[in-house]
Amino acid sequence: MGGRQVTDWQGRRVTVAGLGVSGIPAAKVLRGLGATVTVVNDGEDERARAQAADLEALGITVRLGDGATLPEGTELVVTTPGWKPDKPLFAAARAAGLEIWGDVELAWRLRGPDAAPWLAVTGTNGKTTTVQMLASILTAAGLRTAAVGNIGVSLLDVVLGDEQYDVLAVELSSYQLHWAPSLRAHSAAVLNLAPDHLDWHGSMEAYAADKGRIYEGNRVACVYNVADKATEDLVREADVEEGCRAVGFTLGTPGPSQLGVVDGILVDRAFVDNRQKNAQELAEVSDVNPPAPHNIANALAAAALARAFGVPAAAVRDGLRAFTPDAHRIAHVADVDGVAYIDDSKATNTHAAQASLAAYESIVWIAGGLAKGATFDELVAGAAGRLRGVVLIGADRELIREALTRHAPEVPVVDLDRTDTGAMLAAVREARTLARAGDTVLLAPACASMDMFVNYNKRGDAFAEAVRELSSADG
Ligand code: ADP
Repeated sequence: MGGRQVTDWQGRRVTVAGLGVSGIPAAKVLRGLGATVTVVNDGEDERARAQAADLEALGITVRLGDGATLPEGTELVVTTPGWKPDKPLFAAARAAGLEIWGDVELAWRLRGPDAAPWLAVTGTNGKTTTVQMLASILTAAGLRTAAVGNIGVSLLDVVLGDEQYDVLAVELSSYQLHWAPSLRAHSAAVLNLAPDHLDWHGSMEAYAADKGRIYEGNRVACVYNVADKATEDLVREADVEEGCRAVGFTLGTPGPSQLGVVDGILVDRAFVDNRQKNAQELAEVSDVNPPAPHNIANALAAAALARAFGVPAAAVRDGLRAFTPDAHRIAHVADVDGVAYIDDSKATNTHAAQASLAAYESIVWIAGGLAKGATFDELVAGAAGRLRGVVLIGADRELIREALTRHAPEVPVVDLDRTDTGAMLAAVREARTLARAGDTVLLAPACASMDMFVNYNKRGDAFAEAVRELSSADG
């Protein structure tokens, strides 16, 4: 069940680690419940001082410039999920036998007795898309729901707000899971596991273990990716409620207790009577937007969670049809001279770029940016046969160029040697020169954007603008 409910906060001494998007609301909520709250923060800039003044007006103590020491008398630590687990403050808390909760744990503990169950999603890539698809399916089934969590909607706001829900579609990051020891989802999915954020977690094993926490205590289904054995291993290791099932999703023909694809149809062989013999048709591949392989996988994961919650097949189809992806995720910008221009600026790591490169036959690939310690050999070797050409931009393009030399020596590469914002227009021009009718020019950088742009949104916008400039120059 849902863990110990903490109802009596009066006078409890809570330390909130970190100001910021989750720390400030957590401090206010805890103070509102009657706790004695101290916020500690590493930084001490103008903004932090202003935030501190606001909190102090509410009777909260704030210690700026000292995020390392645990305040005297602390009974509980509530941390910003982004704080690395190896901080001295946490070591001190653990030595004192204290619990450490993240924002998700706090929300979980504060939810009411009749609170909506959570259908939870994590994974290296596809989380946001999958929870949005899931929310769309649940809505199509007539359920009151929302896509919440790491997607940018605070769980604390949701559990304490007035709005009533039947079920929540919850996106969880590996950081949030790390700090959510008592979370128990109705059902949960790990979409995939590839190295990411290893500097934070310390190792791939630690990262996987944190992702795997999402399955702990599941009641109905642990949904895993048949093509990614690591996700299945996590299910096997999880301690779940009696009767909870392992349900796989696959782009191939599904076995019993799986969802998969048969002749362009998404089918369910898990949530049907007599799954040895029967399968239920859910939707057509063309109902998934866009119908790229990785996105069909996301749709199957969303469908599995919805079916675990008892949603009828027709609602899966209607929900998938009603879903439109967020910007910069395989967004079709324009066709120019028979060439499609696709913006997948959100492909900020190699695993994501691999998925989008797999979705097209003949590609002029625009790549590069901040590599965050990644290597590109596997990505380039896998995509080599589909590359018409490559245009490189950004700080770490050298790493990609070297991988191209090793694994795709025949493919023409234009190295722009630029990191200014205007480089995107030049990149699109070069891509156009390389492309032939029927090709796809794909912005899937496999890198973070911050060397050239404020964020991946701005990078995608610059790409779209450059494409528009190109096509209007024609007209
Ligand atoms: P997240 O919330 O996990 O960052 P998004 O749904 O925002 O995931 O997708 C991020 C990027 O990851 C997309 O632009 C796409 O390139 C890639 N992606 C989406 N789904 C998958 C998947 N199932 N497997 C691999 N890559 C994916």
